[in-house]
Amino acid sequence: MYWDIHCHADRLTEDEMEEAVKRKVVVGAVAMDMESARKMLRLKERYPENIRVFLGIHPEVEGSQEEAEEMLNLIEKRRDLLDGIGEVGIPYFYMEGKSSEERKAIKKRGAELLERFVETAARYDLPLNLHVVGDDVGIVLPILEGYGIRGALFHWYEGGDEHLKRLVDAGHFISVSPEIVTNQHYFDFVKGIPLERLLLESDAPCPYGEERGVPTMIFQVAESLAEYHGIEVEKLLRIAGENTLKYLRAGE
Ligand SMILES: [Zn+2]
Repeated sequence: MYWDIHCHADRLTEDEMEEAVKRKVVVGAVAMDMESARKMLRLKERYPENIRVFLGIHPEVEGSQEEAEEMLNLIEKRRDLLDGIGEVGIPYFYMEGKSSEERKAIKKRGAELLERFVETAARYDLPLNLHVVGDDVGIVLPILEGYGIRGALFHWYEGGDEHLKRLVDAGHFISVSPEIVTNQHYFDFVKGIPLERLLLESDAPCPYGEERGVPTMIFQVAESLAEYHGIEVEKLLRIAGENTLKYLRAGE
């Protein structure tokens, strides 16, 4: 089995999901909102072996407080089915035209909501699938530390080398997206991620260049990384798979 640890599986076509199954890719399916959470739970029934369910409210989604409460309730109710919490994190994009006061307020609200999910993750010992960009590591790490969380996943993280060092020192994981194939700047950053902390993801159906993202793109990511690290692709895939199992606390 291979792993795509961060994917919006509810938005995939049936063919894309079937292709993932055929090529033995297990998909870490992250929710954006209540609607995608419900779809995810139905997908899990259909593909019990190939879907791992993460529930949360995407930080860039302008959701209501009620929806957040509803999601937290759903996590409590269905935690037997859950593999983790996500996609949660700090709003980063869509800040254009906002004053610095407004930005601060958005980040603060984001951090408060994130803390609710982190608290739930700590209570049930569930892995976190996080959306955190650049300097926002400085907001998130103290929250995780406050709840004694280690081994969280920072999906498609890109930021300064100093932040990367802090993430690694704190025992967290980072997943690499197919963006490495189209973006040299991102690839250069990814080179600094230690192999023992690296996972693979597609963030599908997010597009890369002209191409629509699909779970099987993890094989292209693995190829590029294996070439850079001078190892066989199969070995890279095995290392990423072992890291994924550690992240999911499988067998603990
Ligand atoms: Zn995502």
